[in-house]
Amino acid sequence: MSSPEYLVFGQPLIARDEIDEVVDSMQKAWLGTGPKAAAFEKSIAAYKTNPGEAAPFAVGLNSCTAGLHLSCLALDLQPGDEVITTAMTFCATVNAIIHAGATPVLADVDPSTFNIDPADVRRKITPKTKALLPVHFAGRPCDMDALMAIAKEHNLHVIEDCAHAIETLYKGRAAGTFGDCGALSFYSTKNIVTGEGGMVITKDEAIAARIKMLALHGMSLDAWKRFSDDGYKHYDVAEVGFKYNMMDLQAAIGLRQMEKIGAYLERRLVVWNRYQEAFADLPIGLPAPLEDTLSTGSRHALHLYTVLIDPARTGGITRDALLLHLHRLGIGTGVHYRAIPTHSAYKKRFGWDAAAWPVAHRIGEQTVSLPLSAKLTDADIDRVISGVKGLIK
Ligand SMILES: *Cc1c(COP(=O)(O)O)cnc(C)c1O
Repeated sequence: MSSPEYLVFGQPLIARDEIDEVVDSMQKAWLGTGPKAAAFEKSIAAYKTNPGEAAPFAVGLNSCTAGLHLSCLALDLQPGDEVITTAMTFCATVNAIIHAGATPVLADVDPSTFNIDPADVRRKITPKTKALLPVHFAGRPCDMDALMAIAKEHNLHVIEDCAHAIETLYKGRAAGTFGDCGALSFYSTKNIVTGEGGMVITKDEAIAARIKMLALHGMSLDAWKRFSDDGYKHYDVAEVGFKYNMMDLQAAIGLRQMEKIGAYLERRLVVWNRYQEAFADLPIGLPAPLEDTLSTGSRHALHLYTVLIDPARTGGITRDALLLHLHRLGIGTGVHYRAIPTHSAYKKRFGWDAAAWPVAHRIGEQTVSLPLSAKLTDADIDRVISGVKGLIK
């Protein structure tokens, strides 16, 4: 028997309809920003509309990183301003703050949700604090009541990193609609993919317009249609911008993906429940039950399924040993994440010592993400489960 194919971590499910939609863009020779990017923005805005409220404005971009960066700029963060974010996130969250000229300040996380701890946020507030940048980790909503109360009290902007949180609800409201801006990712491993891609949603039309302009060199907005039927229009460069716009080729994939967002989430729930049941008796740390979120009208987007491997409980087996063991069995895993202050660039720049964020540091040493994608077959799930159980009993 030939060995099964390598299970690539986070590989998306791409079907005929996505392929056809991309081919359609190519046949029309409209590759860059155009009607499909606009339709995809509309689709996300509709999906992120809260009951009884108007749809947010949505601006398609080439990444969530770009979205976080432009959100910081559009909110006029200045050099010296402090932005409190989480020590347990992807480097892009922190890089965006730094590239906007502001200073990241890290708060530690809650040990059961891995989300930013509002009590530590309070401890980190100084007169220079201008914004909070929470991340809905793995798709589990942050404690937005607590965070928005802090923001109100101290007059802070809020940017939500929704890279994991397209489907996330907090008490019936969509993640990304609590703060000034929410930044979504459609990177290849995320819940909805466009290859590379991102989007900012915001209730503020002026912020949306500024982000849209900054995403295309800072050219005045009618530059988007400068080859319209009315003839050629000169554009004005109103700000020194960036090249962050979303292509129709990307949006073509996303448009078809959005039609399946509910089905994908259901499938990931099946995978999630199989893992929770299979690993219940193992000496490893499992994700907190979903009931926490479901009972309050909230929804976990089920982006990552993370377990904690504590050698003190596993008889000396480390996280890295499990990673290697699964790799040898042809199963790709992820580490989300080593804590931000463990990385050399930040240590050098800010003098951070990871020990100052004990919860994030411990999670960073022990965490491993198992495959969780709509693409997984039942046989794939069995393979992952028996792989884990082959090492840890
Ligand atoms: C993936 C990710 C990003 C960056 O998304 P891109 O679209 O790849 O730029 C930012 N924050 C978090 C938490 C992420 O997981």
